Amino acid sequence: MRRIGLTGGIGSGKSTVAAMLVAQGASLIDTDGIARALAAPGGAAMPAIAAAFGPELVAPDGGLDRARMRELAFGHPETKRKLESILHPLIGQECERQAQAATGALIVFDVPLLVESKRWRAIVERVLVVDASEEIQLQRVVARSAWTSEAVRAVIAQQASRPLRRAAADAVICNENLTLAQLEDEVRALWRLWAGNASAAPL
Ligand code: ADP
Repeated sequence: MRRIGLTGGIGSGKSTVAAMLVAQGASLIDTDGIARALAAPGGAAMPAIAAAFGPELVAPDGGLDRARMRELAFGHPETKRKLESILHPLIGQECERQAQAATGALIVFDVPLLVESKRWRAIVERVLVVDASEEIQLQRVVARSAWTSEAVRAVIAQQASRPLRRAAADAVICNENLTLAQLEDEVRALWRLWAGNASAAPL
């Protein structure tokens, strides 16, 4: 079964494309969701997090105190690396478990920071990037949430640039001047190419 990495900047339409791929028959693995669950109350990463950082990073509900972690990690990249060294192997194990159980014609790993993280490129056979201009990203995120433009710009600035993301792609869906119906047509076309005739179209 083919493993596809799906990525895109905030507001590009990545989640919308993910849902459309699922509608075509893909199995979706939500890596952010897995990371959140691992550090949620009762999550599998919490004992190691508590052991590594002490009880001050554990919120009263037993999950990771994210606000405190952000404060601690600010200006201290080694703190972020320490947390990642706990989370990444566990995320990898859970992804593999879900991939083994998947039944779709394609397995789609939704990885917001795929381009930023080298290890993902080795796990997936193809990378699909959903792309949109910064202005459109801004408009969409402000419309769907209570975020200010400044907050969206700050997130965009931390993510890979559009050229970097596009350079890592095997296919790009340019989700700028498309209606949702047109976006769905693009997703169907890609599905036919990548999942349609698995034996005749090797990756
Ligand atoms: P991401 O997961 O990349 O942050 P989403 O898929 O959540 O982005 O899309 C952001 C918002 O933009 C959502 O409300 C979504 O419905 C809307 N959207 C995405 N693509 C289109 C499109 N082609 N036409 C209209 N609305 C769109």
